[in-house]
Amino acid sequence: MTRLLIESALFFCLAGISFGMWWSTRHLRGNHGVDPAPDLAILHQIDRLILSDASLEHLSQRIVDLISSGTPLQGALIRSVHPKTGELIVLAVSDSLRATDATGGADLSVLRGGTVSPAQMLQSRSLVGHAINERRMVAGDSLAEFERPLLEATEAARLQKALGIKAVVVYPIIVEDRLNGAISFFFDRPTAVIKPRDHALMQALADEVGIALVNIDLLSQLEDMNKRLEDANVHLQTMDATKDDFISITSHQLRSPLTAIKGYTSMLTDGDFGAMTPRQRPVIKQIAESTNEVINVLNDMLSVSRINAEKFEITRAPVMLEDIIKDVVVELKPLAQNKQIRVSVVLPKRPIGPVFLDPLRIRQVLINYVDNAIKYTPHGKVVVSVETTPTDIVVKVKDSGIGIPEDELKRMFTKFYRAANARQMVTAGTGLGLYVAKRVIEDHGGTLFVESVEGQGATFGFRLPFAAVAVPEATTTPATAS
Ligand code: ADP
Repeated sequence: MTRLLIESALFFCLAGISFGMWWSTRHLRGNHGVDPAPDLAILHQIDRLILSDASLEHLSQRIVDLISSGTPLQGALIRSVHPKTGELIVLAVSDSLRATDATGGADLSVLRGGTVSPAQMLQSRSLVGHAINERRMVAGDSLAEFERPLLEATEAARLQKALGIKAVVVYPIIVEDRLNGAISFFFDRPTAVIKPRDHALMQALADEVGIALVNIDLLSQLEDMNKRLEDANVHLQTMDATKDDFISITSHQLRSPLTAIKGYTSMLTDGDFGAMTPRQRPVIKQIAESTNEVINVLNDMLSVSRINAEKFEITRAPVMLEDIIKDVVVELKPLAQNKQIRVSVVLPKRPIGPVFLDPLRIRQVLINYVDNAIKYTPHGKVVVSVETTPTDIVVKVKDSGIGIPEDELKRMFTKFYRAANARQMVTAGTGLGLYVAKRVIEDHGGTLFVESVEGQGATFGFRLPFAAVAVPEATTTPATAS
């Protein structure tokens, strides 16, 4: 489920980013009234880069290198605004402005990583600071005036001379009214010969870089969100495992004393401690029934926690299925008698013989079926039957109770599911019994079924193929379930 959520979030965010990029590409460029046609090739190349590269530094470097190789500009430098501190960081400087033999070792990429706050820029009267503060393009011919306080004046002059920079133009990078950084363009010709067409190109490039910065910011937010979702998922799984452990431990702890109570009440009923008075008899009977009820709920809870922890197993032995059925009916008869419900058992004429089943688990399924049949039948009868076909053993528990609404039939074996009419009739219920039954029967290689018309009773059953429950030749002694 969480995985589905993460995948959906990713899909929608990526769709949003792609749409945003398409929108910005059209509208931002359009806002500045620039005809993109002449420089379409470089802008298109940058568009493709934006879609293919998700690392801020790497993408910025590839963009400034594209600018120096694919335009008449000498090179470029990109700064971005740090999302938390608001400082401006130099992300990339074109390779064309790096040291070569011809430049005598002068290298503008020393600025890379340089970090200055807007206040420091204004204080040092840097022209980059001006461009950012006034949110407009600023052009000039002295590198020192732009790059202070990062570059000291004489060093700036040396670099400018060695690299042959004649003019610098800075554009702030603004996307949807938010300052994202600045881009400096370097020319090997003076400001006077920078044409409107150059400005159109620089503005379009600034917009394009703005889209790239926003895109990467969105992606990093998405990654961050993903990471948090993953952490939350791990946390949930741990809590889920703790909950399963808790249920498993408490169910075990509660089951032992309840089994003792069950044993003593049955000894009392059997007269092992002397005859009971007529007033005591119904009280002890009630204690026995309630204890059984709680033991059955605990067994279901234990089974569910084992299913969740993938530790649910069946332990087969050769057993007489008819005996288990008779036992279950005897155990639940008092419950039926309380409601004046008649419970009968119909067995096949020819005994089935030993079958290879988990006696405790099959008993758990039958207890659930018969208990439900009694519980959801206000008055009438319950018939438990076993039939055989040439291939299968078919066990059915048919009642004349409230039945199941047609539209709820298919959800019967889902965890925690309780139909509306059942909830109305019996408020206490877990919706776990049938879920566990499904797992038990399927683990035996069988199938479950239910037939019902609301108001006309229900038939719950299961079918076990002989082939799936045949006793292996080596084992023959039938076991009993208690
Ligand atoms: P519980 O009985 O504790 O609610 P179960 O898993 O045993 O949980 O049953 C799930 C639901 O299936 C019940 O709440 C009820 O809606 C429906 N159901 C089961 N057996 C019967 C039945 N014999 N007659 C009508 N509805 C039934």
